Amino acid sequence: MTANLLDFDLEGLAAFCETLGEKRFRATQLYRWIHQRGARNFDQMSDLAKSLRAKLQGVARIEGLPVISQHESADGTIKWLFDVGQGNAVEAVFIPEDDRGTLCVSSQAGCAVGCRFCSTGHQGFARNLSTGEIVAQLWFAEHFLRQHLQTQERVISNVVMMGMGEPLQNYAALVPALRTMLDDHGYGLSRRRVTVSTSGVVPMMDRLGQDCPVALAVSLHAPTDALRDSLVPINRKYPLAELLDACKRYLVHAPRDFITFEYCMLDGVNDQAEHAQALIDLVRRHGGQGVACKFNLIPFNPFPQSGLRRSPQPQVLAFAKLLSDAGIVTTVRKTRGDDIDAACGQLAGDVRDRTQVVVRIARQRNLNPMPATATGQA
Ligand code: SAH
Ligand code: SF4
Repeated sequence: MTANLLDFDLEGLAAFCETLGEKRFRATQLYRWIHQRGARNFDQMSDLAKSLRAKLQGVARIEGLPVISQHESADGTIKWLFDVGQGNAVEAVFIPEDDRGTLCVSSQAGCAVGCRFCSTGHQGFARNLSTGEIVAQLWFAEHFLRQHLQTQERVISNVVMMGMGEPLQNYAALVPALRTMLDDHGYGLSRRRVTVSTSGVVPMMDRLGQDCPVALAVSLHAPTDALRDSLVPINRKYPLAELLDACKRYLVHAPRDFITFEYCMLDGVNDQAEHAQALIDLVRRHGGQGVACKFNLIPFNPFPQSGLRRSPQPQVLAFAKLLSDAGIVTTVRKTRGDDIDAACGQLAGDVRDRTQVVVRIARQRNLNPMPATATGQA
């Protein structure tokens, strides 16, 4: 089996090149061809010696993920469904805005955490993605979009690990993928433009702070342990006090930063004034000086099996005002790509379980064996 070069960060690629008797600067050249220029084969790499290209041909490959489908929303959001084998699929979503282009990336097929309001959680866990499969989403999207928009410039300026899966339960594959996103010879994204979102895997938050302190978003969703236990089951293992301590420790490694607390607004469940007050107390009082944070309120995207409802917009705004009035910077997330099921927690579309993913993939393949060509980028 040849090595898939998308699996390597620059250090890993340098070590691989060394086994071939090649110097480090060759690894840098190779890495730049792959990530900056989107090369898919070694023949394209005109400044590498023919002998090296021939050598690589025998031992290495650059293998992305097959695209099962592509949907473009009226607002310019594009969602891709990628085949990761054995009937599993993951999704990535590109969200264009005036001043940035954000790619939402998946880290696992399914998720083992099982949050009540999340359709990925309801699917169950299939498997971890490899580093190459995480990077492949960015590699494909960036180079597809450059062609689509007919530009040589970078299109994706931000990455959020907010697709399917809990990234901190796939730590070993995540970190080299993050390094490729950050590397100047890779995608060159700044540390603050790459966000890992976690349901609160406390020990891995500590390791991330030490290994690769990118921006951190924590899916809070509740101000008390009793409520959070019922919404985000991992809270039973790492309750709020431990989670907030971990947030504070994280900020030691990422000074001048803040934690983004995500809070999915569920009608009558966590959206009342008393919840807002409890949240203010939680983040203010915790550990004496509080946690430097912002809140991002997410309108819940309902799906039939959840048995939950989206909070009415006036309730969301009233909740946001309570937090803002207490001096906590609070934003309400715009829902994007609603018409193509690309909004948060809908990344599994209408899929109820993994068996149905298989059925859907087969169906889509028959109907639409090639990825759709998107038109009319807004
Ligand atoms: N597993 C990680 C990252 C993926 S989920 C995490 O939980 O943080 C990304 C964000 O989408 C999380 O904040 C999650 O709570 C939120 N989310 C999940 N399902 C949702 C839904 N149905 N409606 C709105 N937000 C949802
Ligand atoms: Fe997993 Fe995040 Fe969904 Fe919870 S919200 S089930 S952690 S993907």
